[in-house]
Amino acid sequence: MSEVDVPESHPRYESLLTRHRIEAGVEKGITSKQGLIAQGRGEAFDYLLGEQTIPSADRAARAAAAHLLLAEKPVLSVNGNVAALVPGEMVELAETTGAEIEVNLFNRTETRMEAIADHLRDHGADEVKGLTADARIPGLDHERAKVDADGIYAADVVLVPLEDGDRAKALAEMGKTELVIDLNPQSRSTQTAAVPIVDNIIRSIPNISKHARDLTNAPEADLADCIETFDASEALEAAEKRIRQGDLS
Ligand code: ATP
Repeated sequence: MSEVDVPESHPRYESLLTRHRIEAGVEKGITSKQGLIAQGRGEAFDYLLGEQTIPSADRAARAAAAHLLLAEKPVLSVNGNVAALVPGEMVELAETTGAEIEVNLFNRTETRMEAIADHLRDHGADEVKGLTADARIPGLDHERAKVDADGIYAADVVLVPLEDGDRAKALAEMGKTELVIDLNPQSRSTQTAAVPIVDNIIRSIPNISKHARDLTNAPEADLADCIETFDASEALEAAEKRIRQGDLS
């Protein structure tokens, strides 16, 4: 038996585990109530994808790993859903790629910021950014613009899972390379991303870490090649095609 009291062989195991983690996140004050709705929307897309990492999402995860390894200053952005679903996995990805972690909320409250930072520390994070909030993303209203000057503001590559479309667009306009994980291939976030990963974050973060471990000692030219050969539009088209026409059997 596992965290959700159902065996891992249960056909809806992953979905039940995800729901359980989000619910626990809300109870702990980590995830907002809107986060529950966002999760529901994601689940619908995941169901239509067959709840699996499709080949184009795997290629995107590899390109994302290459970007993180080549970056000067990579930062992983964490919101309430991400913290509830994959806290330990985010810490592992940060360690594998040398990235920093920054808490970044759509509905920012100091209590929730602190709760998420504590939760990440409980899962092994040494340093969690986002609480200083001494810089602003241009073009966004005050609360949603807040970031750390030596975190997301200064980053060249940012992983923004489940990001809201406005912020994804504003970060791209700052010239950052955005790696987005989002199950909706039509969302503004995936449409803006240099690397859109249309996959469930529960599968995707460990998959990016796996690719990063695999690429750790690769020559820079191989990493650059991995980035250059990745085609964002093709990945979005492949995901949409699978969602619209996929065989669920
Ligand atoms: P946008 O503003 O980018 O056009 P949106 O308004 O749909 O998109 P939100 O509802 O703010 O975005 O965010 C939820 C997004 O996160 C949805 O696109 C949903 O598919 C995605 N999502 C939810 N849960 C997961 C998950 N577990 N893994 C990956 N993506 C998820």
